Amino acid sequence: MRLWIFPLVMITVLAGCQTAQPVTTDVRPSRKAKNIILMVGDGMGLTQVTAGLYANKNHLNLEMFPVVGLSKTSSADDLITDSAAGATAFSAGEKTYNGAIALSVDSLPLVTILELAEQAGKSTGMVVTCEVTHATPACFIAHQPSRNMHEAIAADFLKTDIDLFIGGGMNYFARRIDQRNLIAELLSKDYLVMDWTVDLNSLDKTTRKNLAYFTAADKPLPYSKGRTYLPDASRFAATFLDNRSKEGFFLMIEGSQIDWGGHEMDGPYVISEMLDFDRAIGQILEFAAADGETLVIVTADHETGGLAITGKDDAGDLKTAFIYDHHTPAMVPVFAFGPGAEAFAGIYENTALFTKMKNAYGWK
Ligand code: MG
Ligand code: ZN
Repeated sequence: MRLWIFPLVMITVLAGCQTAQPVTTDVRPSRKAKNIILMVGDGMGLTQVTAGLYANKNHLNLEMFPVVGLSKTSSADDLITDSAAGATAFSAGEKTYNGAIALSVDSLPLVTILELAEQAGKSTGMVVTCEVTHATPACFIAHQPSRNMHEAIAADFLKTDIDLFIGGGMNYFARRIDQRNLIAELLSKDYLVMDWTVDLNSLDKTTRKNLAYFTAADKPLPYSKGRTYLPDASRFAATFLDNRSKEGFFLMIEGSQIDWGGHEMDGPYVISEMLDFDRAIGQILEFAAADGETLVIVTADHETGGLAITGKDDAGDLKTAFIYDHHTPAMVPVFAFGPGAEAFAGIYENTALFTKMKNAYGWK
């Protein structure tokens, strides 16, 4: 009899010792979101947020988000993701290889949240502080085997009806090796095409035309060298898209250069970009609070640099240190505000962000 009981007891004990069943993270939202604004701080780990916080007298707009989660960032082929695989995970819901622009590991195109929003009759847009063809925005609108294919990515913009895009990289449309003139092609698709010489706020937000607004021929400047458009352009874009469709909108906004500061292992660069991104967050929160039907999500694709804060210098500025000039696999924060925000609490893979956004829109 004892011989029988012993294994039964052991099985029971072992079962009790199993890893706790993970809490399901596919919480159905209590209320649908008509609009989603996804804000990506490229390279924005928790220390980047913290550095911005302490550099700004212990205050960030990010503190107003009621729901916080954590996203696991590894890619299909590497513990350490790049921005292409990182963005594909949340734009299209699949882990892929580093460098892939909204393609699966088998190089098949993945439908993105922006494309789904367009199909659903929503207006769509992107605002970034890199080239519009750079990895993060590319993963919402293009499908290419490599992030380096800027001209092919630019041409993919013409295959969509994105209502608005704001960012650098005009040369990939205007001065191409293949001699195509994508500016002329945008104009023939009835886009308004403007560049940095025109004040964005002078534009009519109620125009029925789509808008391509280039902020630089190549890379936009860092904030510290005079780039100021992100907060205003973010607010402009939300209002512009909101005026255009009864079905709502999808808008992706990227603080692209938090990552670039990390690659340069430059603490002040990271902090100034973090604070500029946080000002854009403040503009978007004001919009969303007044609107009441907009879900705002702020997250990152990965952390960059293994940033540490090591104290303050004699002038009272933060002292920072970096492990190296590349990305790390640290989990990154997710902040959510508005209808459906509760589904973003917890710890989950970056791919879950895609599913959670679809659920928030009330799609199957
Ligand atoms: Mg990026
Ligand atoms: Zn990077």
